[in-house]
Amino acid sequence: MITLSRRLVTGALASFALSGAGTNRGRAKSLADAPAPKRVRLGAFTITTLLDADQTIDGPWPIVGEDRPRAEVEAVMRDNRLPTSRFTPGFTPVLIETGTQRILFDTGNGEVGFIPRPAGGRLASQLRRVGLSPEAIDLVVLTHCHTDHIGGLKEGDAPLFPNAAYVVGEAEYRFWAAEDRLSAPPDSNTYKSAMVVRSHLFPLRARVRFVKPGDTIAPGIAAMAAYGHTPGHLAFHCESEGHRMLIWGDCAHHEVASLSHPEWHAFFDLDKDQGIATRRAIYAMAATERLLVAGYHTAFPSLGYVERQAGGYRWVSLTGAGDP
Ligand SMILES: [Zn+2]
Repeated sequence: MITLSRRLVTGALASFALSGAGTNRGRAKSLADAPAPKRVRLGAFTITTLLDADQTIDGPWPIVGEDRPRAEVEAVMRDNRLPTSRFTPGFTPVLIETGTQRILFDTGNGEVGFIPRPAGGRLASQLRRVGLSPEAIDLVVLTHCHTDHIGGLKEGDAPLFPNAAYVVGEAEYRFWAAEDRLSAPPDSNTYKSAMVVRSHLFPLRARVRFVKPGDTIAPGIAAMAAYGHTPGHLAFHCESEGHRMLIWGDCAHHEVASLSHPEWHAFFDLDKDQGIATRRAIYAMAATERLLVAGYHTAFPSLGYVERQAGGYRWVSLTGAGDP
């Protein structure tokens, strides 16, 4: 029963991801209608979150709660006064201006990611809204190598960030560079990501610094293991003048569904059990240490705090105008 429904879901999501079918009900909103980048101070750092894709899609089930009955996930949405079967995920790269460097975490969908143009692939346009061009980026850091995070590395045949150096997790790169990845089914997320690694990341290899958990990326910014979603998925701990923030990549695919039930399987996690363990650990850390969090797929502005609630956690979005 579960096998059958999973196969149906896999096929449906694969075609959805490849063709954009299901994402294009209604017209895509223009950039002018999309939320403007959100800027906050974190000590001496300026943090900017930039929405790369603005599209309402089906879910959060089975993207979150793949192993649970659909009705159970929908009940959590209903209890939180949210639509049960449609949501607008964030696809939110983060820029940190440290004072000496402009560091970009993830690059959005570009021309080849999960949300096709015109609704996705808006990172360069969003940067221009805060007066920056892609040429101004000094360092590009990747949490992991799925297409919605690396698709923006290139525009046409050229690197989008011509002056940047790059940081990529050593384990993550090794996984995607392995020839075995190309034996995944051609309509799978794994195969597609492996192909975009080859077209978008391989040509930049001479400028990549490969890092491990614990390595310092820049003063005040360190990599942390957040394995499970992908084998080398990284989070980043950022600290300036005693103010701290966690960039957690894909440790949540929905701010309510993922946080309320960290034990629910995430459809796009490659290792389901490791994904659960990572969510439990990182949500506990964020809540206990009261850290500001930048969550790539949490709803824009994709900044918030994590609090404990019965059985799980809840997301408190940073919606106010003030700095954290
Ligand atoms: Zn993602």
